[in-house]
Amino acid sequence: MTGTQWQHPKLPSVLPSVPAVQDVTTTPEQVNAGMARITNPSETPIYICALDNCYRLFPSRERVMAHRKRDHDSEDQDDIITWNE
Ligand SMILES: [Zn+2]
Repeated sequence: MTGTQWQHPKLPSVLPSVPAVQDVTTTPEQVNAGMARITNPSETPIYICALDNCYRLFPSRERVMAHRKRDHDSEDQDDIITWNE
């Protein structure tokens, strides 16, 4: 193929994991200005499919299981990362 092809920025659908560290740079003023927000498990349910390095996020265990059945052909109840249970 000839000519210039645009190189669109690409992000992999799964990003490598890194250890979480405390945010020491955001000030209370920035938080109050809406730049960031503190949440909790009941306000922001998070369920992560940890099967086969999948790591997709879902809002409920039911959604993880539906995804798992469809995309992994599995009904395994294990390997779900969550802060809700
Ligand atoms: Zn998955």
